[in-house]
Amino acid sequence: MNTTANDHIALISVHGDPAVDIGGEEAGGQNVYVRQVGEALAQQGWQVDMFTRFADANQQRIVQHQPNCRTIRLTAGPAEFIPRHDIFGYGGNFVEELLKFCHNEGIQYSLCHTNYWISGWVGLELKKRLSLPMVHTYHSLGVVKYQSVEKIPPIASTRLEIEKDCLETADCIVATSPQEKEYMRELVSTQGNIEIIPCGTDINRFGSINYRNARTHLGIAPETTVIFYIGRFDERKGIETLVRAVGALKLRREETPLQLVLGGGSHPNKPDGAERQRIEGMVTELGMESFTHFPGRIDDGELSAYYAAADVCVVPSHYEPFGLVPIEAMASGTPVVASNVGGLQYTVVSEQTGLLVPPKDVESFRQAIDRILSHPEWRAQLSVNARKRVEEKFSWEGVAAQLSELYAQLISEPVASINQAQANV
Ligand code: UDP
Repeated sequence: MNTTANDHIALISVHGDPAVDIGGEEAGGQNVYVRQVGEALAQQGWQVDMFTRFADANQQRIVQHQPNCRTIRLTAGPAEFIPRHDIFGYGGNFVEELLKFCHNEGIQYSLCHTNYWISGWVGLELKKRLSLPMVHTYHSLGVVKYQSVEKIPPIASTRLEIEKDCLETADCIVATSPQEKEYMRELVSTQGNIEIIPCGTDINRFGSINYRNARTHLGIAPETTVIFYIGRFDERKGIETLVRAVGALKLRREETPLQLVLGGGSHPNKPDGAERQRIEGMVTELGMESFTHFPGRIDDGELSAYYAAADVCVVPSHYEPFGLVPIEAMASGTPVVASNVGGLQYTVVSEQTGLLVPPKDVESFRQAIDRILSHPEWRAQLSVNARKRVEEKFSWEGVAAQLSELYAQLISEPVASINQAQANV
């Protein structure tokens, strides 16, 4: 491959620290993406520095993940958790600290890859000041997200403007699914370069333990039917829909020993605690406590066993730009029932690796889960197809190889010539 091995590249993720534990507060897919992409790119020869905000006085300033891959935490605002939209006010400090770091260390980055709009703004500044090639991944598009929220935050207009600027100015945008690319073209701008490179998953870790061993490991009886959710506790994740669907399912299948596992989420005093409390309240109200389990944050070591032990994994999000959870479940051989939205339409192939149903539609979720649970042979086929799809399309190594090629091209060729080449096609 024609990469510029040994070049320094900066992955920027101001609010999504790649070195923290995943699952609580606002740590989710973006943190995982940056960390995994960073490590896989380092394996392919790049010198990878991942920049994030110093958000806790007890954190290390620099975390070395591999000899040529580290997380660097820069001071930008107080050393405490700040909700992501309030971080934007410290973007200028972040840029200054990053430039200072480059100067003190004598490092010249060949390219920056920014994640989410706040980092996108940082990248646009770096591009102006250092003429650095810039690649951007949105992780979430404001214009789509605001269609599914009731209250539009005051930061919205700034975010939308920066997201448009990123698309028109960055050297390349990485869309993680064809659906995301379509949204960009329809709702953000017709200008700018977009490449589709999906998110990935660790196909060695997920799939490393089988159904039976996973159940023994977790102490789940073979006859128990397990319905699994994992992720942040955020209203947009649609956990309420799942709870109501399983409540309805249980009424029809009273004799089936059933367990609903709702993994992830922090304690009540953390930012996502309110949603977790709301969901716990609903479980009590619906009389579902005896078969609903809240294990809290599930760490890396246990997660593959939870996925493998589940009969079905449910992703009931109202909106999902990509969604790592379905590909982790599928890599573990677990069929997925997901909302028919965004990146979920790309990762989950309905009727082949699981089922897609309309978001927020309790009865459709109930029916889809019931259908998979009622047909064990079909479930086994979905499981085989699911694993195969992830192996073919969503390994981190494959994703990093595609990013690597894109970076090498942008570093070696001025963007104008790429635009020209595309115009000539
Ligand atoms: N996750 C985890 N432990 C938890 C909860 C979540 O490791 O207790 C991970 C999950 O496995 C996935 C990520 O957090 O890799 C969530 O990513 P996704 O793209 O599904 O959702 P996001 O958080 O980005 O909205």
